[in-house]
Amino acid sequence: MAEPVTLHDALLGWYRAAHRDLPWRRTTDPYAILVSEVMLQQTQVSRVLTRYDAWLERWPGEAELAVARRSDVLAAWVGLGYNSRALRLQQACKIIARDGWPPDAAGLQRLPGIGPYTAAAVASFAFGQQIAAVDTNVRRVAERLGRGVPHELCPEGRAADWNQAMMELGATVCRAREARCGACPVASLCASRGRVALSPRAPAGTRERFEDSNRWVRGRVIAALSAGEGLPQVAPERLEPALAGLARDGLIVRDTAGARLA
Ligand code: SF4
Repeated sequence: MAEPVTLHDALLGWYRAAHRDLPWRRTTDPYAILVSEVMLQQTQVSRVLTRYDAWLERWPGEAELAVARRSDVLAAWVGLGYNSRALRLQQACKIIARDGWPPDAAGLQRLPGIGPYTAAAVASFAFGQQIAAVDTNVRRVAERLGRGVPHELCPEGRAADWNQAMMELGATVCRAREARCGACPVASLCASRGRVALSPRAPAGTRERFEDSNRWVRGRVIAALSAGEGLPQVAPERLEPALAGLARDGLIVRDTAGARLA
């Protein structure tokens, strides 16, 4: 009689065969992985792909990013949203360039802008640390599987592949609003197969376009100020909240001319 397939074999086998070929999955360089993880915080993969290679070409390591001009860093981040992430990434690289890479997730987490998930992702992918990287996607998949919390599921010695596989399953199959159980490699081992209550998607007409968001205006402001163009042509009722938020985050200084980069 054939051996029953384990959750680990099913998911890791599927990941090996079907994962998306993303540039940060082809490297174990901690800097390149850290850049990707920070860019991917609240920004879609497709948008990150338009910036990632150019960023690494311009600043190939922590030492180069550490000494980059702040205005250049902000300008290169335009379109990725939440500009403070770029500045915290640079602050972290300044510390790493001076002190070297922390050896594990606990040390990484002490750097600016690096939380438990990012620290675990970098530590497992770059340093081979045995630690589960748990973001909202991974937590959701684990809950639906009903076979234990993410840290218990992570197989010994396979954390890097396992973390990638769980993220890939959550991003492409077991999605928040659409669990594609019919195409799922672990459906026969899942407690929720075919029974996931999905939160309704907002009607198309009520979903906010990126161009209508405050993030878009903030990006326009940073791009225009970085290029020395003054403030962008945006309706005052949209411009003012963006300026107030950027000033609050320490990214710009309001002055008589309107604003300048901090
Ligand atoms: S069977 Fe469905 S609910 Fe279970 S992990 Fe797969 S996609 Fe998610």
